[in-house]
Amino acid sequence: MSFSSLGLSADILRAVEEQGYREPTPVQRQAIPVVLSGQDLMASAQTGTGKTAGFTLPLLQLLSAKPSDVKGRRPVRALILTPTRELAAQIGENVQAYSKYLRLRSLVVFGGVSINPQMMKLRGGVDILVATPGRLLDLEHQNAVDLSRIEILVLDEADRMLDMGFIHDIRRVLAKLPAKRQNLLFSATFSDEIKALANTLLTRPASVEVVRRNTPSELVTQNVHFVDKKRKRELLSLLIGKGNWQQVLVFTRTKHGANHLAELLGKDGITAAAIHGNKSQGARTRALANFKEGSIRVLVATDIAARGLDIDQLPHVVNYELPNVPEDYVHRIGRTGRAESTGEALSLVCVDEHKLLRDIERLLKREIPRIAEPGFEPDPNIKAEPIQNGRQSQRGAPRGGDRSGSERHSTAPRRQRSGEGSPSGEQRRGGQGKPAASRSQGNGQRRPARARSE
Ligand code: AMP
Repeated sequence: MSFSSLGLSADILRAVEEQGYREPTPVQRQAIPVVLSGQDLMASAQTGTGKTAGFTLPLLQLLSAKPSDVKGRRPVRALILTPTRELAAQIGENVQAYSKYLRLRSLVVFGGVSINPQMMKLRGGVDILVATPGRLLDLEHQNAVDLSRIEILVLDEADRMLDMGFIHDIRRVLAKLPAKRQNLLFSATFSDEIKALANTLLTRPASVEVVRRNTPSELVTQNVHFVDKKRKRELLSLLIGKGNWQQVLVFTRTKHGANHLAELLGKDGITAAAIHGNKSQGARTRALANFKEGSIRVLVATDIAARGLDIDQLPHVVNYELPNVPEDYVHRIGRTGRAESTGEALSLVCVDEHKLLRDIERLLKREIPRIAEPGFEPDPNIKAEPIQNGRQSQRGAPRGGDRSGSERHSTAPRRQRSGEGSPSGEQRRGGQGKPAASRSQGNGQRRPARARSE
């Protein structure tokens, strides 16, 4: 099937062709006709499936085919909400590229940078706004943006938005939108919370499911290498050098760990930079740009900072430490093997992480193949020190609970556990340092988050 058979205009097709896309991906094949028909959509699609073009291309087509009937300043007609700044910036770039030949204006707004330029640009009139929820609300409170003319709403990575505690912000935004509009909801997973949100948001939606829930792309080769914690860095440097890996995204669990590893790799002569929530937006953007253009070989990232990162044909992802939450493993390795390219995901697993590995394999419903570099076999005398709350616990301390218990714990205060204080570095107000996600209160009940993005 070709893009031209999907009913997109010549100007959009031209822009798509310039991107080098030869044919639509499965999510695009399914979602584009639905969106063009004006129907609501609930799509289960992970980053890397081409979902951004799946909603952006038809959205552009709808907006350009029917100019706004509002006189004077252009009202915002399409709103794309995303959980993180990086994702917002990437979607913004895609919108720009796909709308190159259209007379539509788009703008990306997120926190952590000055609000004034954003207000100025809004004043000039914007058709498509890509935003993180907190900054959007700030702009709205300051009357810098009018959301009453929104025709199409996209909630992207809705599962992550809920994980990050944005549900109240989302509801506040929804309250500002006109009742009559088209809604598109994209989520990698469909928890009960997402289903509840979908029920209130969507009217008779078409559903599109592209990759089975929590299934990594088949284009990603996965391997596990057991190794002692103290020798992980040495092994990583060796593998990068031996394999002549030129572009490697490495995940650590904490911001401190990311900094430290980037520094040590530098000492090994491997150019590396860390990105995480404590880095300024400028530093993160610079590091990502350097990584994309190849002037640094390794980008060391925490889960939140890397969420939604779109790096063309990224060949290698390394889990330097396994994530506490098994689903994050799928998100992490989804950075490679995107669209049509293949990739390799390697997890360096020390004895402390065996339980985390078991949880991941249970989620994947299969064992990840083991590989071993001679000379790096784990020392059998080193015994596990289970990880709790991002720190090594006392040896022999009980881990507490069955799988469902640990899930409940791990899904709620995930950000704090991973050492990441704020979603993608979004500054929090009102949260007083508490994690944004709804939290378990010990009695298993959830209390709504108070924090918000900026
Ligand atoms: P996404 O899932 O939207 O983050 O897209 C993942 C990557 O796939 C991005 O680098 C897109 O530029 C690329 N992409 C999107 N659609 C296509 C397509 N039809 N053919 C090839 N690459 C694509």
